[in-house]
Amino acid sequence: MQPDADLRQSTRGVFVYEAPASRVIFGINALDRLPREIERLGLKRALVLSTPQQQPLARTVAGLLGATCAGIFANAVMHVPVEIAHQARVEAARLGADCVVAAGGGSTIGLGKAIALQSGLPVVAVPTTYAGSEMTPIYGLTEAGRKVTGRDRRVLPKTVIYDPLLTLDLPPSVSVTSGFNAIAHAVEALYAEEPNPVTALMAEEGIRALVQGLPSLVEDPRDPDSRGHCLYGAWLCGAVLGTTGMAIHHKLCHVLGGTWNLPHADTHTIVLPHAMAYNYAAAPQAMARIARATGTTNAATGMFDLIKRLKAPTALGDIGMKHADLPRAASLAMSEPYYNPRPVTHEGIAKLLDDAFFGRRPVL
Ligand code: NAD
Repeated sequence: MQPDADLRQSTRGVFVYEAPASRVIFGINALDRLPREIERLGLKRALVLSTPQQQPLARTVAGLLGATCAGIFANAVMHVPVEIAHQARVEAARLGADCVVAAGGGSTIGLGKAIALQSGLPVVAVPTTYAGSEMTPIYGLTEAGRKVTGRDRRVLPKTVIYDPLLTLDLPPSVSVTSGFNAIAHAVEALYAEEPNPVTALMAEEGIRALVQGLPSLVEDPRDPDSRGHCLYGAWLCGAVLGTTGMAIHHKLCHVLGGTWNLPHADTHTIVLPHAMAYNYAAAPQAMARIARATGTTNAATGMFDLIKRLKAPTALGDIGMKHADLPRAASLAMSEPYYNPRPVTHEGIAKLLDDAFFGRRPVL
């Protein structure tokens, strides 16, 4: 029998797999374990973080923690403005907090990371979307409208508690785009500059779990099993984002989200099949794995069809992008070199963006 193609390719050179150091607690009612987990880390005063919309969750978490809760900071917003990060750090210091518990999506966890980056306080994450930030040492901060990202081990949460029950109220439309945001991490991990067989199997399994969970979640948003599938998939997809590099898809989404403030998960959903089509011929092994995980014969058109079937957005023109801004987006995406399996050209990006703007089904 032939060895697995990814393994054969990887073992011809040297491959590196660095496991993220987070401890994961996963399952229905896993949140109940939070006080034990805080105690296990030897922590005594937790500042609980949330968005204004998720204050009820923050209060539940605070109630569970009892005397171990130092206070609540419920001002997390998208893309972590430096002013909010500063306010949160001041509040943590004022309350004598020795850790933060970030309960929410990527925005809240991003705030926890921003606190950790400068204060060194450990983060315990309780994710409620599928964005996957809790599994990565990647942080982002926005100053004067410009988002900068970086990697730092200090921001990686020490413990992550995944409780599918906390995602039951995530609206189906948001759940679907959040799920494609997660799938995008796994797709790019499969054709990353330094792929490895361990990451590849996690990525494929992550995509498979989400592709299985998302349609049933749309049918019954309060089904804990579908939610569990999606959260499990999000965990794996976030983990591979944390251990590998990114390519054209993430670069474009970063440019579009950062410059035109487009909604994060929607942008990922729309761009994904086009980025896959762009790299299709240059990454045959990755595409074969994705096709297997999604149960399709063509990974890129199959992804587009699934997005459409789940009624998620398919056109940048529908989420606030202007056609006249596409040339600038293409120039920005070309401004710094980065790895991509197929060489990145201005014409190639311009066509990709035009297709994504109108929501055309990719043609390979
Ligand atoms: P989000 O955290 O901004 O949440 C979106 C909205 O949904 C918020 O209003 C929030 O309060 C609400 N919400 C969250 N969970 C809910 C639930 N279970 N029920 C009801 N409402 C809920 O969105 P997101 O997509 O999770 O995160 C996006 C941010 O995360 C972006 O800034 C992105 O750059 C960042 N991100 C970072 C990484 C990383 O590795 N650093 C990875 C992915 C995303």
